Amino acid sequence: MTTRVTFWGVRGSIPTPGPRTIRYGGNTPCVSLERDGHSMVVLDAGSGLRVLGHELMQREVPPGRVELLLTHTHWDHIQGIPFFKPLSVSGVQVRVWGAPQDGIPIENILRRQMEPMVFPVPLRAFAAEIEVHDLAPGSFEIDGFDVEAVRLRHPGVTLGFVLAVRGDGRKLAYVTDNELGAGGDYPVSADWREQLVASLRGVDVLVHDAMYAEHMIKTRAGWGHSTPQQAVEVALEAGVRRLVLFHHEPEHDDAAVDRQLEAAREHAVQLGGTLVVDAAVEGDSFLL
Ligand SMILES: [Zn+2]
Ligand SMILES: [Zn+2]
Repeated sequence: MTTRVTFWGVRGSIPTPGPRTIRYGGNTPCVSLERDGHSMVVLDAGSGLRVLGHELMQREVPPGRVELLLTHTHWDHIQGIPFFKPLSVSGVQVRVWGAPQDGIPIENILRRQMEPMVFPVPLRAFAAEIEVHDLAPGSFEIDGFDVEAVRLRHPGVTLGFVLAVRGDGRKLAYVTDNELGAGGDYPVSADWREQLVASLRGVDVLVHDAMYAEHMIKTRAGWGHSTPQQAVEVALEAGVRRLVLFHHEPEHDDAAVDRQLEAAREHAVQLGGTLVVDAAVEGDSFLL
């Protein structure tokens, strides 16, 4: 049984269409995991979700259910929801999971995103069956996967997800919008990094925030993001097999992302080990 992972959006903060970002892509975060005979699992609902929706609408047999896991509710992680075409199809089930923010349930936050002042169609006006569930750090199960949600160092309550395929044990970790450096003041435990590394142990593919270039991090400490070198270090510490740099900085054109990737690969070689490092490309997919 294989699991196909596809990147529908890999850019951080704001969509960046245009010729300068054509190779890596300009849509904001959205990643899908698909196993035959199971629901589709979707990680984040950035503008890439719109593209995924169009793809699903063209299939002869669209998935009956979509499980949508949100890391947090910053714009770039939810802005695709109003434009996800399968929401307009009756009979489609969409379950959304995400952490409440400041005591406000995730459903209320998504409703606010679609209030008449800012969007013409309310969340509950869509034809699909939509369930929205609050999520806290910890373990749970969704169709075909054992999932661990871990708290990340990022403004608000932000979750990373470690998904283990039930049956074959292959693991993907999706850790975006995460500050590995010392900056920021986040309500996490003193042994946060050890706990994160423990959760990432045995992971086959780690998709990690690598937004800032090394020269940018000094002025952006506390903004909730990491550099490629920091991502390499945590990947090596946890012994993961492959690292995929993600949440590309919107001001980085394709050549700049190339340089980020090059720097990360060099750093991995210097530190030794056999870590494979890639940068996420919109539209790419692989078998886990
Ligand atoms: Zn983001
Ligand atoms: Zn964010």
